[in-house]
Amino acid sequence: MCKSNIVSMYSADAQFPVYCPSCFYSDRWDPFTFGREYDVRKGFSDQLTELWNAVPHLSIMNKQSENSEYCNYSYANKNCYLTAGSHYEEDCLYGAYSTKNRDCVDCLWTYGSELLYECMFSKNCYSSAFLDHCEDCKNCFFSRDLKGCSDCLFCANLRQKRFYIFNEQKTEEEFRRILESLQLSTFSGLEKAKQTCRIELQRRFPVRALYQVQCENCEGDTLSNCKNMRKCFYGSDSEDCVYGMQVDGTYSSMDIDYMGYDRSELCYQTIGCLGLHNCVTCNACWNGSGLRYCQNCFSCADCFGCISLQQQKYCILNRRYAKEDYEKLAARIIERMTEDGEWGEFFPTALSPFGYNESMAQDWVPLSKMEILSRGHRWTEDEELPGVTKIIEAARLPEMIEEIPDDVLNWAIRCVQTARPFRIVKKELEFYRKMQLPLPRIHPDERHRHRKALRNPRKLWSRNCAKCAREIQTTYSPDRPETIFCEECYLKEVY
Ligand SMILES: [Zn+2]
Ligand SMILES: [Zn+2]
Repeated sequence: MCKSNIVSMYSADAQFPVYCPSCFYSDRWDPFTFGREYDVRKGFSDQLTELWNAVPHLSIMNKQSENSEYCNYSYANKNCYLTAGSHYEEDCLYGAYSTKNRDCVDCLWTYGSELLYECMFSKNCYSSAFLDHCEDCKNCFFSRDLKGCSDCLFCANLRQKRFYIFNEQKTEEEFRRILESLQLSTFSGLEKAKQTCRIELQRRFPVRALYQVQCENCEGDTLSNCKNMRKCFYGSDSEDCVYGMQVDGTYSSMDIDYMGYDRSELCYQTIGCLGLHNCVTCNACWNGSGLRYCQNCFSCADCFGCISLQQQKYCILNRRYAKEDYEKLAARIIERMTEDGEWGEFFPTALSPFGYNESMAQDWVPLSKMEILSRGHRWTEDEELPGVTKIIEAARLPEMIEEIPDDVLNWAIRCVQTARPFRIVKKELEFYRKMQLPLPRIHPDERHRHRKALRNPRKLWSRNCAKCAREIQTTYSPDRPETIFCEECYLKEVY
């Protein structure tokens, strides 16, 4: 609308118009002008697709943020860059699904932490790197499942320990000497330590079958403060949900992804939503009730097949109705959708404006380009980095962070794995210098992909506890090398 140059989650060739947030939330346009009457002769999803392709879409979900324009699904961030699904963050880069952190780079699902690098599923940690499932730790590196620890290296399952390496007590002097000898500020030193962590941790220390903290009657992994959950992963403060991923503050819901932070209840097939009550098949709707097949609707109630509405009630395909007419027509549409086998299904894949390979589907169900196209999904080619003339091969970067000149900010670096060029931003360089870490040689998207691949699958196997032989459910598949303990044996080992 305003013709200004914007950052958008949709590429320039999207079929629909894209509005920047200030235009989108303004009263300078009316989403009802794109509305249409329900046509009994046509299937509902075809009509929804037509509306989808005509209505202006919000360029990016990014509210109340300051100097953080490259962040999506974000709220109240300051000085952040390329983070997604993160809120109340300051000076964080390349992270995802994180809240209330400061100065964190390349993290996944962290909370209330500061100065973290390459950490995941960790809470209230400080000045640490390569941690997984750790809480209240500081100056810890390459470790898993630590609580209340400081100055630990290559450790797992420790509580309130200091100066430990491979779960063995060291003197402070020994600890510092060994840490120093790893030369983590060099690329080769860091790579070697990563490899040691990967191989030795799983060889030496048992893991708990499922990571659940303060949970009651739950089936799933990485859950905290949950009750009666089935097949749910990465969740907190939720109850009575089934088939959920990344679920916060959600109750009595099913088939749900990326739900939080305002309480949601009675949702089915909702994704990227918050504060919903009694909603079916919704994408990116914030605060609403009685929504069916809606996308990007904010503070709306009782709407069916609507897109980009704010504070509306009783609408179908972006058209207003009286309450009674709405109810009659909604019932007719449900009848027709049931006949067509559409009612209760998710949106048709064809509605996705994203390539399969650039979506999260590729992480969980990876397919080749040919498979993707033959299944009728979109494939997106990588874009060239505009305006960059100086490209350096990543392998030719200096080993040590001290050797990197400020001029690196004007170059692009060619990723050693994907050949995609990427840039280093100023704040990032400052972070690596402060933390004494070498420059990464892999594209941020690829780093994100590697990090996500470290998560256990969203699948439960029946196995036996390696100690007491009791039958357990676990996300560690039988062919993995880790020693798996049931919760009881694990707690005996740890405390
Ligand atoms: Zn605009
Ligand atoms: Zn056991």
